[in-house]
Amino acid sequence: MLVINSIEQGIVIDHITAGLGAKILNYLDIDTSKHTVAFIMNADSKKHGKKDVIKINDVTDIDVADLGLIDPTATVNVIEAHKVVRKIQLSIPEKVINVIKCKNPRCVTSIERNAPHIFHLINEEEREYRCEYCDDIVCMKGDWQNEILRKEWPSVRYGK
Ligand SMILES: [Zn+2]
Repeated sequence: MLVINSIEQGIVIDHITAGLGAKILNYLDIDTSKHTVAFIMNADSKKHGKKDVIKINDVTDIDVADLGLIDPTATVNVIEAHKVVRKIQLSIPEKVINVIKCKNPRCVTSIERNAPHIFHLINEEEREYRCEYCDDIVCMKGDWQNEILRKEWPSVRYGK
């Protein structure tokens, strides 16, 4: 069993489906000049066999709802003074803005740089989402290949 030093303050994203940790890291786009990030791939998990885990120091005020698009089975632990003060079970979000990019080359979001990428959940079981502009449907179940956008961090919540 791999042991990583516990963190004093920060978040631990646990039970990430093995292989999806890199996508979550990509989306979170943590500034590693300010924060220490530990990424553990293929750790043993009692629940699911293999899992990825991400630990981020000194980031606690994080809006995690959108992470459910990438992996609704992950859990987020918020840690303060070495203790878990909040445990969040992710779920499948109804609507996401600027997490994945629409793949349709004729979509307005492919043409206009500033158009937000908005997707609405249309089938929870199949995790299918519809692009707000072009009605293209993406399936977020299994090995999806949509391009991940980078999270925009408001400076007041992020910096130290
Ligand atoms: Zn579209």
